[in-house]
Amino acid sequence: TIVVLGSSNTDMVIKSPKLPLPGETIIGGAFFMNQGGKGANQAVAAARMGADVQFISKIGTDIFGKQSIKGYKDEGINVDKIFIDESAPSGIALISVDGVGENSILVAPGANSNLLPADLDKVIEEIKQAGILLMQLEIPMASIEYAAEAAFNNNVKVILNPAPAGKLSRKLIDCLFLIVVNESEAEYVSGVSVSDEATAIEAAKKISDMGVKNIIVTLGSDGVIAMIDREVFKVPAIKVEAIDTTAAGDTFCGVLSVGIMEGMPVIEAIKLANKAAALSVTRMGAQKSIPYRNEFE
Ligand code: ADP
Repeated sequence: TIVVLGSSNTDMVIKSPKLPLPGETIIGGAFFMNQGGKGANQAVAAARMGADVQFISKIGTDIFGKQSIKGYKDEGINVDKIFIDESAPSGIALISVDGVGENSILVAPGANSNLLPADLDKVIEEIKQAGILLMQLEIPMASIEYAAEAAFNNNVKVILNPAPAGKLSRKLIDCLFLIVVNESEAEYVSGVSVSDEATAIEAAKKISDMGVKNIIVTLGSDGVIAMIDREVFKVPAIKVEAIDTTAAGDTFCGVLSVGIMEGMPVIEAIKLANKAAALSVTRMGAQKSIPYRNEFE
């Protein structure tokens, strides 16, 4: 089982010729409402690969949370351990997407902020018995650290996508089997300003020096730099016409985890994730854009 521990949000998306500047109002185009949240997106990406996925998350009592649960169930995701928060609304994200597929996102985390270590005590067996624990940074850091430690101590491979970028404690870093970072996250974690392959390699080396075994730096259309057991690999991106890059990183992380769960070498899992993520950027939306295995394999 791949246990995904993370956020569940409802995305409200508006397409626009350009992103609004502070203080500016723009009349945009079409409106879409989708299930989102990095945790949920990665769980869906893994489930669409045919993997056995358990999603641990927290939602409110509102209609958005209820719709999310229904969506996850329809994907075949195990939702038995999704917590319901009586005191906060479900997470919401307001997303703008411009004409070249760039996005701007504002999140109201709501119930996601209340997914605490005390909740995780109720699902600790699921975490300890997982094949992989996949996490992001849209729930409280204390919970991420708590779950990582429980997983690591039970030989569960911990995969972290530290997004949105945040500081990682020594304790958390020590538990990681693999980390997936984009340019800004790589910079946040390593302190190296990342803008191209050379600086991505430099950042990966820094993260490797911290003790992480496998590091993946995603560079959007410029491909992927990986450092696997201290060895550097470059994987080019697949040439596609990008329409909406929302959830590209999430697709990548979810599919990558499935590859590793299936026993693929990390580099093979990267190639698989690269294909899936490339296909996802050719479509609008977050979860809607995440491909099924038979669409790209
Ligand atoms: P994030 O969306 O988290 O910022 P990236 O932009 O690096 O992360 O994208 C993650 C992955 O999605 C990339 O490594 C690549 O596999 C794929 N991807 C993103 N943008 C493109 C693109 N324009 N063309 C092809 N693949 C892309």
